[in-house]
Amino acid sequence: MNTAAKSFALVTGASRGIGAAIAKRLAKDGHHVFINYASNEAKAAQIRDAIVSAGGTAELCHFDVSNSAQVDEKLDWIHKSFGPLSVLVNNAGITIDSLLLRLKDDDLRRTLAVDLEGAIYCTRAAAKQMMRARQGSIIQISSVIGESGNAGQSGYAAAKAGLIGFSKSIAKELGSRQVRVNVVTPGFIETDMTGALTESQKEAILQTIPLGYLGAADDVSSLVAFLASGASRYITGQVIGVNGGMYM
Ligand code: NAD
Repeated sequence: MNTAAKSFALVTGASRGIGAAIAKRLAKDGHHVFINYASNEAKAAQIRDAIVSAGGTAELCHFDVSNSAQVDEKLDWIHKSFGPLSVLVNNAGITIDSLLLRLKDDDLRRTLAVDLEGAIYCTRAAAKQMMRARQGSIIQISSVIGESGNAGQSGYAAAKAGLIGFSKSIAKELGSRQVRVNVVTPGFIETDMTGALTESQKEAILQTIPLGYLGAADDVSSLVAFLASGASRYITGQVIGVNGGMYM
């Protein structure tokens, strides 16, 4: 596989849902994509095969984002074997919903470890490569819940809101090296994560969305593709919603 002139993009949690859509879109735009997955190798391989069938190039990349040693090892492998990353999309995420008084320590820790610490570990490792190369685009997949809050999702909201403060800080740190950092905040997007909602929960959510329908994974991937491209070269430190107007 000739990757000599390629831009390298890592998408975390890319074996399904929004991450898979982002991986496919970035590959279509000409990036060599590293498809990170934590456990489901077969699904990740399906995404890689779909990318290759469509004429793109991609690689599987197995690690748990919440394990900083694994993150450092895999990002170092990418750098040494291919070259510096140009694009990092921190998409991996989990939600363990609970009202505050029933919130279990382990569930809170796991949510913060994956959704916030995981993104920080990946950003730190990628920033090292990008700063030296004096180029790069880091895109965090946060959530509308991190902006508006939601009863029963305080741990998830804390992690996703934390990602916004973190990203604005490092946008200031990394800007002089031409490394951009932006945050995408999806609203309700139809994936496995929202598949757990009941019909009545979906109906209630629809009432809060001015455009009147749930989003699709490609509504998010098209914004990510723009933020990964040179067309957004003067955009950094921004939080951009893809939410059908449910939060303004
Ligand atoms: P999903 O559950 O379908 O996908 C999440 C992915 O993250 C999965 O592939 C999962 O295996 C991976 N992952 C989980 N823990 C991991 C770990 N420790 N290491 C590596 N990978 C791990 O969910 P989705 O709806 O596609 O969500 C993708 C992102 O978008 C998440 O960060 C989520 O919080 C965010 N988001 C989703 C919605 C929505 O409505 N679907 C709304 C707002 C934000």
